Amino acid sequence: MALFSKKDDGKDAAEAQDRTAPERTAPAETADAQEWLIPEESRGYLSQLFKGLKAPVELRLFTGKGLNEEYAGFTRRFIADLTRLSDNISLTEVDLDAPEAAERGIAESPTVLMAPDRYDIRFTGAPAGEEGRTFIEAIALCSLGRSGLRQTSRDLLATLAEKRHVRVFVSPTCPYCPGQAVNAVRAAIERPELVSAQIVEISENRELAQRFGVGSVPHTVINDSLAVLGMEPEERFTAELVALRSAEELTGTAGSPGGAAEESVFRDLVIVGGGPAGLAAGIYAERAGLRSVILEKANVGGQVAATPVVENYPGMTSTSGGKLVDMLAAHAREYVDIHEFEPVQEIKVGRLIEAVTPRVLYRCRALILATGASWKALGVPGESAFHGNGVSHCASCDGALYKDRKVVVVGGGNTALTDALHLRNLGADVTVVHRRDAFRAQEHLQKSVAREAIPVLWNSEVTAVLGEGALTGVRLRDTVTGEERELACDGVFVAIGEKSETRLARQVGLRLDADGNVAVDREMRTSIPRIYGAGDVTGGLRQIVTAMGAGATAAMTAFADLKRFESEEAGDEERP
Ligand code: NAP
Repeated sequence: MALFSKKDDGKDAAEAQDRTAPERTAPAETADAQEWLIPEESRGYLSQLFKGLKAPVELRLFTGKGLNEEYAGFTRRFIADLTRLSDNISLTEVDLDAPEAAERGIAESPTVLMAPDRYDIRFTGAPAGEEGRTFIEAIALCSLGRSGLRQTSRDLLATLAEKRHVRVFVSPTCPYCPGQAVNAVRAAIERPELVSAQIVEISENRELAQRFGVGSVPHTVINDSLAVLGMEPEERFTAELVALRSAEELTGTAGSPGGAAEESVFRDLVIVGGGPAGLAAGIYAERAGLRSVILEKANVGGQVAATPVVENYPGMTSTSGGKLVDMLAAHAREYVDIHEFEPVQEIKVGRLIEAVTPRVLYRCRALILATGASWKALGVPGESAFHGNGVSHCASCDGALYKDRKVVVVGGGNTALTDALHLRNLGADVTVVHRRDAFRAQEHLQKSVAREAIPVLWNSEVTAVLGEGALTGVRLRDTVTGEERELACDGVFVAIGEKSETRLARQVGLRLDADGNVAVDREMRTSIPRIYGAGDVTGGLRQIVTAMGAGATAAMTAFADLKRFESEEAGDEERP
């Protein structure tokens, strides 16, 4: 993982990606070639980061006249900025009509080849938003000439004997995409003679995305034959790349191929989950003096990372969930080790508490469960068959696929209306389907939906998702009259609430409340001493601020309890 490690192996990659990529700026603002496209704050960060570069990295930009000119212009400006920030980065521009483009099979503008003298890594589309972060990290990896993969992945890749071409389809607003794109880049650096990586931005390359049946991102295609949905842990991706078979086929389960814990580590406090509750808990615990670690099964931020717009986080009128997560995570990393892609598989309670991950056995004195909540499914015919291919839970990630297309958003809460507004903003033709005659979402969102004149089908339930091969519509039932009808659409965004992620809670035997959430008292104590709950997993209001408050409370309660246990134990020893 290590790139420019400050303190801990687990956090460097995210730091390298941190707040570097500009939003796509309107052409009028970027017309003057002397002006910076990259904001000043990010330039300072990047200059520091680029001081660690070793070998020169040529970025070869292919563009064609009249093709995606706005995006080509953005890419040119972005790379030109990077060349001003480091002598180790250079830009060469090649016309798509040049023989080299045909020789390399490049037809899309803009396309960037990265260090083409050493690697076959290409970015198809402008490196904006989340993709910009991947781009920066890829430059750093190419320059260092090190994949940064773990030894087990490197050993596995060493057995590869045939060529692999990996295409990762991404969108600039998808928080899960950089993780998967970087997996592909790392593999291409580890085995440059056999592995090539292509990161494809979907909204600029819709035909290509359609040709590969992309219905949600990240979507990975290996050798045009194996398609994988979602972001994957490194080991799982590497195993699939080498075997050219899905992890499910390889293991017979949906779990990561991986071995037993390789090491044992002691911490005062283990925090399971890297959403707002876990991140706040980490800051408070370390500041109180508890040596802590946050273990996150995917990447930090939880569901907030995929929230298009947040308008009720005090102090910020409006921001994207991704930006808020960036700030929270950067702050937390100042204090606490955050291990992403390290899922806790089991918790055991003894004198010390144990949290078992695929690589490490963590022993700790206290544990905070901040495992969040996951999206609820409709549970109707066709929903799972079209999941990732028309049915989505992430408007931030997949919205770009539905510009000028018809989508249905199901639900009447904050998520449904936020998603509907975001999709409309991206140019989709949105209809909200709600089972009652009134929304439960905040009034502010309701007013915005009315102002945008987004149609709402009240008293309507989706009873089936329809289509053969491709999604073509939904069947609706009127909850008042019972009448059924079909509504044609290209995509369905399901936003009908969440259910608490209680697998670990149930496994260790924590008491749940009547709604299936982890039961906690006012100080966030659960039914088992020295285990605390915080955030969405405990139910309640499920807001970012309440999750963070609960995380802070849980950490301070853990601190107070551990101090009390310490003095009780010391007292016991002193007693005759
Ligand atoms: P939610 O508030 O629980 O709303 C779920 C919606 O889906 C409700 O309108 C519900 O209908 C409907 N629904 C539930 N099951 C259904 C089914 N089987 N078929 C059809 N419709 C169904 O969920 P959410 O909007 O995802 O929000 C979850 C939590 O996150 C909430 O605490 C929310 O406040 C928070 N959140 C906050 C923000 C924000 O503040 N910016 C943004 C997103 C989420 P009924 O109304 O009839 O029950």
